[in-house]
Amino acid sequence: MTAWKICDTCGERKDPKEFISKTGKATYKSCKECKSIKGKESSIKGKANEYLVLGALLPMFPNTMMSSNEQTAHDLIVHLSKNDDIRVQVKTVSKENSITFEAGKRAGAERRQISGMKEYQYSADDTDVVIGIKAIDTGSFELFFVPSLVIDEIGQKSISANVVKFTKNDFEVITRCKDRSYVKEFIKKLNN
Ligand SMILES: [Zn+2]
Repeated sequence: MTAWKICDTCGERKDPKEFISKTGKATYKSCKECKSIKGKESSIKGKANEYLVLGALLPMFPNTMMSSNEQTAHDLIVHLSKNDDIRVQVKTVSKENSITFEAGKRAGAERRQISGMKEYQYSADDTDVVIGIKAIDTGSFELFFVPSLVIDEIGQKSISANVVKFTKNDFEVITRCKDRSYVKEFIKKLNN
């Protein structure tokens, strides 16, 4: 006899094995089907946010393009000059108002693999700046900027958008994110 479990998300009665996640951990908050729908939704939202950031950057940086595939650790490339490209990773600011520097943790279509790693933290090796996008209302949003050199330096897995609010809609961070003295200044501001 099967002891049915009720999915907290869709409210349907399901076989417990419909809840086992890939990591082998069973929770009854959402069934596999609900998880898959959620994964797709967040993947679409992530892509939509990449387009929003692209649109926001284009007037100032006309040579900005989307990465041509999902296997890279950056979503956009800003071509500043002949020998200067800025690799941008776009992250959605979470409900808790935080910007995560980790990738590949979410289940579903969002999962990306880089050099065989399922999870990784952004670093200056593969990204130059992380842009956090925070929805305010339909069609309106705020952007927060964190240079990857700062991420490498502070060793945190995430940061509160509040802590980097001095970067709000400051596109200049893009042109300065690889500048060591700017990065020093930036870190000082975090500690204030
Ligand atoms: Zn469900």
